[in-house]
Amino acid sequence: MQAPECPHCKEAMLPGYLLDHVHGYFVQGTWVAGQPEKSFWSGLKMRGKVKHPVTAYRCERCHLLASYAHPQPPK
Ligand SMILES: [Zn+2]
Repeated sequence: MQAPECPHCKEAMLPGYLLDHVHGYFVQGTWVAGQPEKSFWSGLKMRGKVKHPVTAYRCERCHLLASYAHPQPPK
């Protein structure tokens, strides 16, 4: 995807991602459909949830973030 333009500054935004840190591993943040549901075993229920990795674009001038959750190509 082409980088979006900052709605305030009208400049191209830099792609990046939001970091998640799970059990000593660094992973890309993930968008999950719906409301968080607590699970005793895993913190939050993830079974059957629609999930997409989050790409966050950042404006270097005003520091605005614009997040996109692009669907992953089928494996
Ligand atoms: Zn901006």
